[in-house]
Amino acid sequence: MKNEAAYLNDVPEGAPTAAVSQRPRSTGSVLAAQIRQIRSSHAYRTMVDHFRDRCRVQRNEDGTVGAHCWILSCQAPIDYSLKFPHPDSFSADHYIPMKERIALALDPENLRPSHFACNSGRGADEDYGPGALGEPSEIW
Ligand SMILES: [Zn+2]
Repeated sequence: MKNEAAYLNDVPEGAPTAAVSQRPRSTGSVLAAQIRQIRSSHAYRTMVDHFRDRCRVQRNEDGTVGAHCWILSCQAPIDYSLKFPHPDSFSADHYIPMKERIALALDPENLRPSHFACNSGRGADEDYGPGALGEPSEIW
């Protein structure tokens, strides 16, 4: 029950924006098209590339380098050498989902580092296509 709710909710547990994430799915079709358009834009890809580079070289408190997955249930290191669509590859997660605040879609401050699989598990509207996710792997 709890797990199911977490899957349907686009915001991880503990995030302060939980109250705004209950919008009915039926309003999403136009928005979904907008989001797809943004995701395929040069500006978006450039923003994500820069964000990824920043995360990759981030120095952590424990002396290690590379931002960890921010998803509360994970928080594991990210192998920045892995490429999409590897489930453990880097993915730029939107702290406030694009479908909630489309105006923040191109705001790098709204991005958080995550694993592709973790990010995909957050929201049902992610535009990665069916079957891309595959099974979570253990490569460590
Ligand atoms: Zn993760």
